[in-house]
Amino acid sequence: RTPSRLLFPLAHDRCQLARAVVPTARRIDGIRNFSSSVPRSHQRLVILGSGWGGYEVLRGVDKKRWDVTVISPNNYFNFTPLLAGCAVGTLEFRCAVEPVRRFTPQVTAYQAWCDHIDFKQKRLLCAPATAPIAHDASTKPSGGDVETGAKGAQTFWVNYDKLVIAVGAYSQTFNVPGVKEHAHFLKDVKDARAIRGRIVECFEQANQPTMSDVERRNLLNFCIVGGGPTGVEFAAELYDLLHTDMAEHYPALARMARINLYDVAPSILGSFDKNLVEYTEKTFAREGINIWTSRTVERVEDGKMFIKEEGEVPFGLLVWSTGLAPNPLVQSISEINKDQRTSSLITDEHLNVVMADGFANPDVWAIGDAAKIESQPLPATAQVANQKGKYLVKKLNKIVKDQDSPKPFEFHNFGSLAYVGDWKAIYDRSASEGTFLSKESGRLAWLLWRSAYFTMTLSLRNKILVPTYWFLNWIFGRDLTRF
Ligand code: FAD
Repeated sequence: RTPSRLLFPLAHDRCQLARAVVPTARRIDGIRNFSSSVPRSHQRLVILGSGWGGYEVLRGVDKKRWDVTVISPNNYFNFTPLLAGCAVGTLEFRCAVEPVRRFTPQVTAYQAWCDHIDFKQKRLLCAPATAPIAHDASTKPSGGDVETGAKGAQTFWVNYDKLVIAVGAYSQTFNVPGVKEHAHFLKDVKDARAIRGRIVECFEQANQPTMSDVERRNLLNFCIVGGGPTGVEFAAELYDLLHTDMAEHYPALARMARINLYDVAPSILGSFDKNLVEYTEKTFAREGINIWTSRTVERVEDGKMFIKEEGEVPFGLLVWSTGLAPNPLVQSISEINKDQRTSSLITDEHLNVVMADGFANPDVWAIGDAAKIESQPLPATAQVANQKGKYLVKKLNKIVKDQDSPKPFEFHNFGSLAYVGDWKAIYDRSASEGTFLSKESGRLAWLLWRSAYFTMTLSLRNKILVPTYWFLNWIFGRDLTRF
């Protein structure tokens, strides 16, 4: 119960009533809110980010009792485990996304970046993530708290009563020169689209009569840097593509194609059980996927990278997946406690953000890859982000009814899965004691992998689309067109 409610229940209720009869035109920090139908009578809950953590909160929170605003540069949620499949055409892009607009106009949604959090005044400085607009100086913005910067770029303020920070993390490059310019990342459906386009382009370029065989081999050298689950799954999906559809439509070129997986560590899949790593290495060796461990990439240029141990390696496509870098928003906030090593926000066991003075902020929570519980270090996975999101939903739905909030957050490990190609996968739950199926590899693990991700798909639409595309692409082959 909020202090005002405890001390002045009647006054509080009267105030609520008075607010409820105020005209429906709602203002967020001076901006007339035209996109929500909820009267401005409830506490304002702002969610930053529409990923595994933020979207789960958005889905589950009681939108009739909270006045919800979501701010994210994407107007969709990425179902990241399906991105590798989308990047090679095993699935269509829409299978891996869920729209934020599904919840409007009941909630307010801004496709924007949050650039700054003012914890004292409980407000957020945001910048539109839509294409820049040349504003007509003779017209006024519809709200008062819009600011215009030196170059005409406009920002706006959004107030909150409660805030959920779920901004995730960025891709790590270790500042290797040229990575940002010449490598592809696999973090978003846009990345998957770009990768798919590039694979097809490599084959079409290599197919030109003007090419020499050396040039063909270079173009069809597909390199992946990072031997974690994302790098491994992408290599496996690419193997499937090369040995089915590409082998059928470009038989000579498919024989020239190579997949190379590099990692700086002495082994791939560091977080998996040793036997499963061995199984993956043997499977990859049989499939012709080359694993190069203890390799350091020094720089990347257009179409080639330089490896300390080997020198120049030409490539047609380079996918870079070497872990997480801190989100700049998190890095920029000085009023909060941050993990020194990873720059993620530190929270208590109720997921409240611990401020620089060492006290947890009761109005601000942080979840997902951007946050860490001090006493309970957990991996940066969708599973953790999703469970934290679910926990917060319960908490917020109790807070809004003035009920006791749930016990501290507890993580339940359902295991890790990775696809290794040719209808095989690995499943590792050995970290949880006393489980019936603690380690599995091969076809059974592949079945678990597919059923897990099918079960986890969020909407009815994707529950229909995902198996349908798996089936259609199996029957008719993947889409090899490029627009
Ligand atoms: P994200 O899902 O990254 O979402 C962050 C959100 O915040 C995004 O909407 C972003 O646009 C938004 N944002 C960023 N900056 C700002 C800002 N300044 N203001 C407002 N919004 C902002 N995990 C598993 O458990 N199993 C898997 O099989 C698995 N497979 C994966 C496959 C791939 C290809 C990748 C990339 C990751 C995979 N993961 C998997 C990891 C998992 O996706 C992440 O741990 C998870 O996405 C973290 O959730 P999150 O909500 O913290 O961040």
